[in-house]
Amino acid sequence: MDPIEQQQRAAIVSAVQEMGPLGISQGTSGNISVRFGEQLLITPSGVPYAEMNLDQILVMDFDGNWQGEGEPSSEWRFHRDIMRSRPDVNAVVHGHPLYATSLAICRREIPAVHYMIAAAGGATVRCAEYATFGSEALSRNALLALRERNCCLLANHGMIALGSDLKKAMWLAVELENLAHQYVTSLRIGSPHILSAAEIEKNIELFRNYGPKELK
Ligand code: 13P
Ligand code: ZN
Repeated sequence: MDPIEQQQRAAIVSAVQEMGPLGISQGTSGNISVRFGEQLLITPSGVPYAEMNLDQILVMDFDGNWQGEGEPSSEWRFHRDIMRSRPDVNAVVHGHPLYATSLAICRREIPAVHYMIAAAGGATVRCAEYATFGSEALSRNALLALRERNCCLLANHGMIALGSDLKKAMWLAVELENLAHQYVTSLRIGSPHILSAAEIEKNIELFRNYGPKELK
């Protein structure tokens, strides 16, 4: 196997194994893909993170043809569709973290309760309309919620975080869950104050090059 492909597969396996400890997902929930030329590398379906190894990562082209043992993630459609429509995105992380998913169950978007929402690319984190997991409808709904955004919630399901590389997508997934936790906690206290759209615009500029990056 090409050493770069091997390195990317290893990075995906270590990222999925970090999802549990980071509070992004657990068990077999969630999935990850990384752009690999005109293809993507994607996690297998239904394999517990602790048991996943790099030979189980699948290679998929943008027509949805795949190579490898086992089945690609049931969410390969939104991974493929995001990569196809967003040339700025090279990694997609999906999970079912507690607070982001709880808000998604209430079908609530996250408003600008903290300046860190700028990392999401806008003054809100939208909640995509509900559709069955793995469906084309879910992919369409997710793409709509991700317009001019780097992350979104999925109604009664979870969240998606995007990045220019895997490190950045994982970082955003953790920040999104933290933001959701802060929002839920502030709702419990009562009347969270929402920052203005102008203030978030300013923060988006300041955030353009902020955050971890993979060394080239
Ligand atoms: P897979 O194991 O098929 O990736 O599914 C997990 C999931 O989160 C589906 O939405
Ligand atoms: Zn899911």
